[in-house]
Amino acid sequence: MDAHLPTSLKCPNCASPIREDDYDAEQGTIRCSYCGTLMLPPRAQRPAALPRPQIALPAKMTLEKTARGIVIKRRWINVMVVFLIPFCIVWDSFVFGFLFRMTTSEDVPWMVRLFPLGHVAVGIGVTYYTLALLINQTRVEATQNAVTVSHGPLPWFGWREIVAGRIDQLYCKEVIHRSKNGVSTTYEVWVQLDDGTNSRLVASGLNPDQALFIEQQIESMLAVKDRPMSGEYRR
Ligand SMILES: [Zn+2]
Repeated sequence: MDAHLPTSLKCPNCASPIREDDYDAEQGTIRCSYCGTLMLPPRAQRPAALPRPQIALPAKMTLEKTARGIVIKRRWINVMVVFLIPFCIVWDSFVFGFLFRMTTSEDVPWMVRLFPLGHVAVGIGVTYYTLALLINQTRVEATQNAVTVSHGPLPWFGWREIVAGRIDQLYCKEVIHRSKNGVSTTYEVWVQLDDGTNSRLVASGLNPDQALFIEQQIESMLAVKDRPMSGEYRR
């Protein structure tokens, strides 16, 4: 028996119609052939016949069930630190060694004293980023009230809180990075809100499994609120 997607299904990112070929029955995922958006079939439009494979916990992630909901954590560490740590050591020792020599000698013109400011800024920025890669985690908490995304312990931008009732759909947006070393693809997790606007939930470069895992876990958490409470009237 074939499971067919509803023909009315549109990509939440680019609004082009999802075609039958975009559905990967084995993975249970949909990939928009126009913009590359990856998603699980939306809950409301998912035919009962569609299989719903559970995505296994990806590497570098943890899932914790709390009294209020779920907490997903993702460590930031990646292969970049292999290059960044030596860079920081060389750069910082050069820049701060230069600063030290300058402050210990008297006859340095003020122009030369200002010269390394850009280098100091780069050293601080790259060192902070490297430390963040080493110790930071992205924390995604989903409860029946809200979905909250934060990064730490080193402070980082990208804090989000979205009221659960406003979330219509989650999906994973493809981000293509082109560099001289080639093309790499990462994913972000996005939400479509009840007013039709789209909003980025998790920005950091996720692989497809991590992005789909976050989508699936939040969706099943949010599905809880659709269940009738005991004694509640349900149409
Ligand atoms: Zn699309």
